[in-house]
Amino acid sequence: MSSRVRQLLSSVFGTSSVKSDNDQRINGSHRLTDVNDASSTSLQLLNGISDTSTESTPYPYTRPTFLFMDPDQVKLSRDKTKRPAIIPKDVHKIPIKAGYAEVINAGKSLNNEDQAVAVRCVISRHINMVPSNASCNSMERNEANNAENGEELKNKLEFTYFGIFDGHGGYGAAVMASQNLHIYLMKHLTKLLDLGLLSKKLYSSYHNIAINDLIIGALETSFFEMDDYVFRERHLCPNTGGCTALVSVLLEDKLYVAQAGDSRAVIIRKNDILCMSQEFTPDTERQRIQQLAIENPNLLQKEFTPSQFSRNIWKKDLGKEVLCRTGYMKGWSPKVITCDDLKPPLICGDGKQACLMGTIRVSRGFGDHDLYVMSSNIHIKPFLSCVPEVRVYDLNDSEISDNDILLMGSDGFWDFVSNEEAAEYIRKRMSELEDSDEKMVTISNELVLKARGESSSDYAWKRNSKQLGSYDDITVFVIPLGHYMQERNVTMRPKTDQVTAM
Ligand code: MG
Repeated sequence: MSSRVRQLLSSVFGTSSVKSDNDQRINGSHRLTDVNDASSTSLQLLNGISDTSTESTPYPYTRPTFLFMDPDQVKLSRDKTKRPAIIPKDVHKIPIKAGYAEVINAGKSLNNEDQAVAVRCVISRHINMVPSNASCNSMERNEANNAENGEELKNKLEFTYFGIFDGHGGYGAAVMASQNLHIYLMKHLTKLLDLGLLSKKLYSSYHNIAINDLIIGALETSFFEMDDYVFRERHLCPNTGGCTALVSVLLEDKLYVAQAGDSRAVIIRKNDILCMSQEFTPDTERQRIQQLAIENPNLLQKEFTPSQFSRNIWKKDLGKEVLCRTGYMKGWSPKVITCDDLKPPLICGDGKQACLMGTIRVSRGFGDHDLYVMSSNIHIKPFLSCVPEVRVYDLNDSEISDNDILLMGSDGFWDFVSNEEAAEYIRKRMSELEDSDEKMVTISNELVLKARGESSSDYAWKRNSKQLGSYDDITVFVIPLGHYMQERNVTMRPKTDQVTAM
C-alpha cells in the first residue's frame, strides 16, 4: 500500500488499522485533511497498493495499483506501435477473482489516460458512538439506542469497489479520483454506521427513506467532494485535466453503479443484457446544458446561441423560418432567424461527436476547473456536472448464476464493441473455458484485443478488413457476480455452524 493512501486513511479517519511501512510522504501532505472530522475508526483496505513512478509530483503518472507495475513496465506499456494488452500479474490482487485488462491509445496522448481501481473495503462503526445528531428526533435516538443493545446494530460493513476513470486533457484528475473517491465513500458509509442508519436489515425503509437511498446519497456526496478535491488540489498535478467516472459497488446483496461520464456498465446474463448506466455527453445532456445557458446568459458572453437548429444557419437564412428547439423542448418548432441565431451553437454535432462550445465532448465527471473556450474567458466548468446517476440491482432477487457477469468498460471499448457482441462473446467463453482463477482475466484480455484489433501494414488498427479498431485507451473489468454471491454466502454462514463443526 502506498504511503499516499495510508496518509489519506490516516488524515481522513484518524486512527487506521492500516499500517505504514514507508512514511516518507506522510509529513507535509495536505490532501483530504479538511474533509472529515471523524476522530477515529477502524478501516481496512484489503488490497495492495503500489506506486509505479518516480516522478516527484504528488500525483505522478501511474497505472492501476493492482497491476503492480514498476517504472520500466509502465514505460513499456506506453508503446504505441505494439499497444500491448496489460493484465494483472497476480490475479488474486483483484477482489472476487474479477478480470481486468487495458490497452493504451494509438497516439491520442503520451500516457494512458484511463485509470482504474479495484478494492475491497471494510469499515467499522466508532465504538461507543451513539447517534446524537440534532436532526435526529427522539424516536430515532431511541431506536438507535435500542439497536445498540440489540442484535440489529450493524458495526461493520464491507463492500467491493471497482472504478474506471477516463481522463482527458491530462492524467491528473483520473489518478486523483482512482486514489481518493473510495476513501470518500468509506467516510460517508462510516457516518451512516455511526448514526445507526444501517443497523436495520438493508433495504427496508427508515422513516420513509429507504436505506438504498442512503447508499445512493453516500455515493453522490462522495462524487461532489471528489470534484471539489480536484479543484482545491489541482495545483498538485501539472496535467490535471478532467475525467469521467464509472463506479460499481457490491454491498451486501445489492449492486450500485454510479455513472458520471461516457463509460458503461452492463450485466450480462444467460438470456438478457441489462444496462446499468447511460452515457452522459453534450448530446445526451443537451436539454440540461441549454436550460443552464438560457437561465444564465452571461455564461455564454454573447458568443454562442443556446438554441438548437435542425441544420446549419447561414447569413442568407436571416428572416427565414428554420426548425429550432430550446432546452425546454423535446420537439421542434419553426423560428424566424435573427442575427443572434448566426452565432455558433452551444452544442454542435450529434452523438459521440457532439461538442460543447467547440471545446469538450464529455459533460460529466471530475476536474476541468481551468478549462476555457479557446482564446476567450468563457468558462466551461459551469456546464459540466459531477453528479452521478446511480442505478441499483438486487442480486438476491435475481437468482444470479455462476456465469452472470458485470462488464465495465471505458468508451474506448464500447465505441467499438456493442453490448450484444460483448455478451455473445462472454457467454461463449464462459462456457468454453474451464473454471480457474485466471478465467476472468483471460476474457478481459481477449475483449480489449477485440476492441483494439491488429496493426495493419498501412499503420491503421483494424478489427477486420472492414472495421477500424479503437484508437482510444481501452479498459475493461469482467466481474463475476456469481462468484461474489458465493463468497457472500460463505461469509454469511452462521458462526454457530463452525462451532458445531468443531
Ligand atoms: Mg476514452
